[in-house]
Formats: sequence, structure tokens, C-alpha cells
Amino acid sequence: MRVVSGIQPTGNLHLGNYLGAIRQWVDMQDRAESLFFLADLHALTVVIDPRELASNTIEMAATLIAAGIDPDRAILFNQARVPAHAELCWLLQGTARMGWLNRMTQWKDKAGKNREGASVGLFTYPVLQAADVLAYQATHVPVGDDQKQHLELARDIATKFNQDFGVELFTLPEPFISPAAPRVMSLRDGSAKMSKSDPSDASRINLVDSDDVMAGKFRKARTDAEPLPAEMAGLAERPEARNLVTIYAALAGTGGDAVLAEFAGQGFGQFKPALADLAIATLGPIRDRMVRLLDDRDHVAVTLEKGAERARTLAGPTLLAAQKAMGLQV
Ligand code: ATP
Ligand code: MG
Repeated sequence: MRVVSGIQPTGNLHLGNYLGAIRQWVDMQDRAESLFFLADLHALTVVIDPRELASNTIEMAATLIAAGIDPDRAILFNQARVPAHAELCWLLQGTARMGWLNRMTQWKDKAGKNREGASVGLFTYPVLQAADVLAYQATHVPVGDDQKQHLELARDIATKFNQDFGVELFTLPEPFISPAAPRVMSLRDGSAKMSKSDPSDASRINLVDSDDVMAGKFRKARTDAEPLPAEMAGLAERPEARNLVTIYAALAGTGGDAVLAEFAGQGFGQFKPALADLAIATLGPIRDRMVRLLDDRDHVAVTLEKGAERARTLAGPTLLAAQKAMGLQV
């Protein structure tokens, strides 16, 4: 089993990234050969500030290490330092079809009405994602449900490439959907997911937030005036309340019904402080470790470079085989 997953070094990591992705990565590194990367090439699909991108990459790597990714067990690197990602992406652009990419909901969401002004990279982003996993012959890709469609596309690209060139080169990656990985919603709007790119900082708990900031954001989180019911079924029409209970359950490592068994009949005046305490107990130590790691940014950079070296070694043979299959090598 080989697992590959990436995260964009844009903005701050938030509670959704932690519960939905990073915590699963930490579990994964003991069970599978794991490659985790900072997707700095993906970040180029939107307007970036080069200095910010470089520092974000280091900061995010430090956050991942602080959250429990062990760079000796997992291979941790930034994508740009492994040229096979971009090279294979180009090779796969001949295989991917416009129609396939046009159907991607993330493209539609992110480009919005401004398709003409969107970068070409934003459109071809899922092809780079396909290259990210196919370059390593990943068997499994941990995906939140916002990424299922892109993994399906990677499988389609792999299948068509193998057929078109009469090779059995690319492994078809399976989705790995952890039942313990919730979809965390915005604290301001229960119908939108918590996101780095949400302009409202109050919509998310950042992993770098101080204890007071976290507590304040939970206190101000949008809710309703009803007390909590005894079961999750009672929250079907209350997305904001459901989100807070889901977050509590995920942090506590239990289910929503178990949380409600404890808080049934209580209002948010009691629930929110309990939730804040739990979040602070989990995320506070991660933040403090991250701050210590960032005292020596060069050390983090060296760690990433060592990971990139290992990743280049793994991706090399697949890239070469793809080139041969396409007549690029005599
Ligand atoms: P952006 O708004 O820039 O897309 P993002 O917050 O969605 O940022 P990504 O870098 O796209 O973050 O996603 C990194 C990982 O975190 C992915 O595995 C994704 O599925 C997961 N993830 C992102 N947001 C959430 C969320 N709200 N709940 C659960 N998982 C999430
Ligand atoms: Mg996203």
C-alpha cells in the first residue's frame, strides 16, 4: 500500500484541514508507505506573492511535523522540488480531455463567472493532481469528499493512458475515505465548508490561532437558540449546530450521538466553552511545537529537501517508463 497526498501551502491550515486530512495522514504513516507534499505548484494556479509562497511552504511543513508527521517515516517534501510532477503533468495533458476537465465542480466553483480571466492552471489543476499520484504508483489516496471527483479523473486519465499506449504502467489509485474524517463547515455559514480561501477569518479556526482567538471564534460561531437534542437526527435542519457537534465528536474521537448524550437539553452557552476547551487542548500543543520548529527555518528546509530526494528516486522510473511508452526516448 502506497499513499500520496498533498496540501496547498496557501494561507493557514485550519481545523478542517486538520480533522479532514492531516490527522488521517498521521495515522496513515504507520500503516502504509506514505508521501505527503506541500503543493506549491498547485498554488501557482491563483495569484501568489512569491515571498509569501516560500514562507508559507516552510510554515506549513512545520505545522505538519508539529501535528505528528514524522519526516523519517513519511516522505515529506514540496512538489516543486520533484520535477516529475510537472513533467508527467505535461505528458498527461495529451491524455486528459477538455470535456472531462469542464465537468470538474471545483473548476466551476473557483473560476466562477470569470472563466476568461481564470488561469489555465486553474483549469488543468486536476491533471497535475493526477500526475502527483500516478508518478508514485499510489495505491490509495486519502480524499475528503471535495476531492473525490478529481481522484475519479486521475483514474480515467490512467486508464486511457494505459489503453492508448498499450502499457500497464499506471496503477489505478483507490480513494481512501476515512470514516473518522468529517467535513468541517464554516463557523459563519453551515452550508459552506471551512476553507483557507474564505475571506472571513472568523469562519475558521486556524492552527496558528492563540487559545483566546480560538475561544472567541467558537463563542461567536453562528448557531441557533434551541437547546441540543438527544440525537444527531434532531440536527438535520440545523447545519450550524450540527457542525459544532461534529467538530466536538471528531476532536473527542467519538460519535455525534455520544456527544449529544452528554449535552442533550443544554444550550450553546454551555456547549461552546466545552468545545473551545477541547479544541484548545488538541490544537494548542501543535501550535506551540510549530512555533518552536520555526525558530530554525533552515532546518525545516533541509528536512523538505531530504524528502524531495527520496521522492525523486521513487518517481524517476515511472516518468521514464511514461516517456518510453510515448516515444520520447529511443
Ligand atoms: P482552498 O480553499 O485553498 O481550496 P482548503 O481549505 O480547501 O483550501 P486544501 O488545501 O484544498 O484546503 O485541502 C487540503 C486537504 O484538506 C484536502 O485533503 C481536503 O479534502 C481537506 N479539507 C479542506 N477543507 C476541509 C474541510 N472543511 N473539512 C474537511 N476536510 C477539509
Ligand atoms: Mg480545497
